[in-house]
Parts: sequence; C-alpha cells; structure tokens
Amino acid sequence: MDAKSFLTGLDTTQKMYIDGKWVLSSSQETREVINPATGEVIGIVTEGNRDDAKQAIAAARRAFDTDGWQDSKARDRADLLNKIADRLEQRVEEFASLDTLNNGKPLRESRYDVADAVNQFRYFAGLATKPHGVTYDVPDDIQAMVVREPIGVVGQIIPWNYPLVMATQKIAPAIAAGCTIVIKPAEQTPLSLIRLFEIIDEVGFPPGVINLVLGAGETVGAELSESPLVDKVAFTGGTDTGIRIMKAAADTIKKVGLELGGKSPNIVFADADFETAVDYALFGIFANQGEVCSAGSRLILEETLYDRFVPELVARAKQITVGLGTEEATEMGPLISEEHMNRVLYYIEEGKKEGATLLCGGRRIMENGLDKGFFVEPTIFADTTPEMKIVQEEIFGPVLVIQTFKTEEEALALANGTKYGLAGAVFTTDVAKAHRVIKKLRAGITWINTYHPTFNEAPWGGYKQSGIGRELGTYGYDEYLEIKQINVNLNVQPSGWFQKK
Ligand code: NAD
Repeated sequence: MDAKSFLTGLDTTQKMYIDGKWVLSSSQETREVINPATGEVIGIVTEGNRDDAKQAIAAARRAFDTDGWQDSKARDRADLLNKIADRLEQRVEEFASLDTLNNGKPLRESRYDVADAVNQFRYFAGLATKPHGVTYDVPDDIQAMVVREPIGVVGQIIPWNYPLVMATQKIAPAIAAGCTIVIKPAEQTPLSLIRLFEIIDEVGFPPGVINLVLGAGETVGAELSESPLVDKVAFTGGTDTGIRIMKAAADTIKKVGLELGGKSPNIVFADADFETAVDYALFGIFANQGEVCSAGSRLILEETLYDRFVPELVARAKQITVGLGTEEATEMGPLISEEHMNRVLYYIEEGKKEGATLLCGGRRIMENGLDKGFFVEPTIFADTTPEMKIVQEEIFGPVLVIQTFKTEEEALALANGTKYGLAGAVFTTDVAKAHRVIKKLRAGITWINTYHPTFNEAPWGGYKQSGIGRELGTYGYDEYLEIKQINVNLNVQPSGWFQKK
C-alpha cells in the first residue's frame, strides 16, 4: 500500500483544529511522522506548543461557558455523534490503512479498531438521550433530586498504540455528556485523528467545542494538565506519565481519569482446555505486537502442565508471521519507533543478564526486507523469579515471561505480585476455581477461559497503579458528568429558625 495515496488531498503540513479552524502552530515548527515498518517519513505535521494549547483551551471554555454548548440538547449531540459514526463507517478502509501506515499494526487489527470507533460514537449517542438522575423521598416538604451536568472543559491525552480508538473512546462520551474538548494525540501517531477532524469539521459542531492540538507531552500535554481553565484531564499512557499528570493536575484540583500501564497475569491451570489455553496465551501477548496495556505479558502456569504446554507455545510463537502491516498475511507488525524497539531489546538483554532462559525470539528482525523497520521477534522467557525486571516492569512489546506455581494460593500471589492491576485471566474447566481466583485477582478487567475480548458497553480501567476511574460503558460516561443535588421547597414559607424580634 502506498503511503502517499493516503496523504494526497491533505496539505503538506498537516494542521491542528482550534476554534473551528485549521491552523498551523504559532511557532511554525513541524514534526516528521514515520512509518515504523519502513522508517520512511509519511507525513509532516505542525508542532503545537503551550500557546496553541492555551488558545484551544480558551476556545473550549468560551464554547462551554458563553456560546451555549452547556445548554445544548442531548438529542442534537446524539445526532452529531451518529453523523460522525455514519461518515467514519463509509471510510473504514481509509482509516484502517492510515493507522496501519502510522502505527504498523496489521490491517485486520486496524479494521477492527475503526469498526470499534464507529460503535463507540453510536453507543454514546444512545446514552446521551437516556434518563439521568434520581429523586429522593426525604422528610419535610422537599422535592429532592439529583441531576447530572457536563463537567465542562476536558483535556484528553492519547497514546500511540491505538491511535484512532483511544481518541474516540474519549471524544464520544465527553461530547455525549455535553463537555467541550481539547485533545492531543501521541507525537508518533497523529494522522488518523487529524483525518477524523475532517469529519468533525463537516458534521457542524459549533466553533470551540472540539479542538485538536498536536505536539509534545511536556508542552501541550502539560498545559492541559495544569491549566486552571480545564475541569478534567483524561489520560491514557504510561504510569510514570500518569504520575506527572496527577501531580500537575493537583494544583487546580482537576478531576483526573488515568488509564495506565499493566503487567497482566494469564493463569493457566493443568485442567484447562489445552488448545484454547495455548491459543489465548499467544493472542494475549502477541496481538498488536504486545503493545497493549492489558496484554497477558505474564503466563502463570501450573507446574504439572509445563512440559506439555511450553514446547507447544514456543513452536506456535515461532510460526507467527511478522511483517508489513499492509500485507494481509501479516500477523504481527513492527514496534512503534526505533526508540521503543531499543527499549524492548534492552529488557530482553536485562532478562538474559538476570538469568531467565530465552526460549525463543529475542532479536530485532533484519531479514526479508524488514531491516528498515522496527521489528522484534515474538519472545518467550522461562525460569524467571518474581523480582526480575522483566517480570515486574511493563515492556510493552512482544515479550512473554513464564512463571510457574504448584497451588492456587501460589498462583494468586504471583498474579497479584506487581504494582499493576489492569487485567488478568484464568484458564480452567473448574468453574468454582475460576471464580475463586477471579474474586481474588486485584484487576479491573478479567476473563475466564478467554483473553482480550472487551466491549464498549463495559467499563475499562485498572486497580492499583494501573489507573483511576473507568472509560467506556455507563461508568465511563459518568466520568464526564458532575452530580448536582437540587432541593425544592414545596411549602414556601419562612422556616422560623431565627425568631423575628
Ligand atoms: P506515554 O505516557 O509516553 O505517552 C502518552 C501520551 O502522554 C502522549 O500523548 C504523550 O505526548 C503524553 N505525555 C507525555 N508526557 C507528558 C506530560 N508530562 N504531561 C502530559 N502529557 C504527557 O505513553 P505511550 O508510550 O504513548 O503509551 C504506552 C503506555 O500507555 C503503556 O504504558 C500502556 O500500558 C499505556 N496504555 C494504557 C491503556 C489503558 O487503557 N490502561 C491503553 C493504552 C495504552
């Protein structure tokens, strides 16, 4: 697939969208966008800065406070979201190709992501018009009620691993709720979000309601986290960045939503359905090149199954077709950048130094014309100990570590033995055991006899240092709404608390 064919029709320097207009950065600086499969430059985007972010925040503030968006009607907001969904649905192949070119992931994954994004707009369009709030039966002649109102201006900061869908799962609920938005994509992957703003521009939002600012985390992202004019910052990315954002947001008591990293356990008991467990162990870690926050990056395996399970797992990992995401046969693409690939390779070296046994992979792939891209082999380590770096730290690449156990208690201790708590799975045919283990797993997203299926209807988010709050579902929608208590006196007369003298 030719990168240029997707970029024709756009300006050579791709712009930001602030206050209803396409604009260049006030500094006129630019940034190159790279195809991680080939190392080629596939786009040049304007590089926003703090001043641009301030302008966008001011526009979002005005749109919310004085231009009427906070009084917009749910049905009108739902119409706009449905229009975005319809137009995006007509361009699935174009958006999928753009994410594959910019992120590297196989086309079949990108197509899935775009379909997911379409569904998110429709789901939250539906929620916007559903009843909110409750009434209470209280003493006295008071009609007591609770209403939900939009939080206000939200800053949204996005990672590079799902460039489109991470953005849409923040945009759709915020708009449904009646908020205004300033959104920043990851520096590496702005292209599909810029293209989405073409659609946002077409469907007719009032100026300032949704703004796109490109640029670095340390400038644009920091402004969104610090600004007193932003009511909430919603962030998806690494835990270290989440800590910085939370500190920056503290000075203005900003609401924070944090979707952070993980080191998720995939527990396989000896009584599991063998083929299913092997299949999902592979899918859990190697889907999307392992660049998945909820990846099953730790296989926690019952010792008695080891000799049968591990040779099959390794044989299957070696069969994974790694290549250009644009080729239909490709099952795993490149990592996002040279810098990230080197980070993953560093962890692999650390694992070897710490004494873990490398069962397969471990190398950058330089054969078959892949030498210009950032490809790493599917990698599996055994003989690990819980304190090893490769067991404790998020690698965010195609690296699986195996830990073994003898008892259910031991499995749980290993599973819960990191600072993270995003996701986890258990494979067993014993229903009671499955539920006992899931009940004790300190994680927000869990599976029994499967790995990875997630739904826009269900809440997404982590325990422990994997995050704060939830995205998606009604829980994710609520995160963009304030709660207001209203008490109406039905018997209007003085209380007499202080005597009239
Ligand atoms: P990252 O934290 O490096 O960057 C994410 C975003 O934060 C980028 O847009 C970046 O520009 C911005 N940023 C960086 N420094 C900032 C600062 N000081 N202030 C404000 N913004 C700043 O993460 P990444 O490398 O893009 O993504 C990988 C990480 O994201 C992994 O840890 C992964 O687990 C996590 N992730 C989590 C989820 C989830 O739902 N829990 C989903 C996807 C990815």
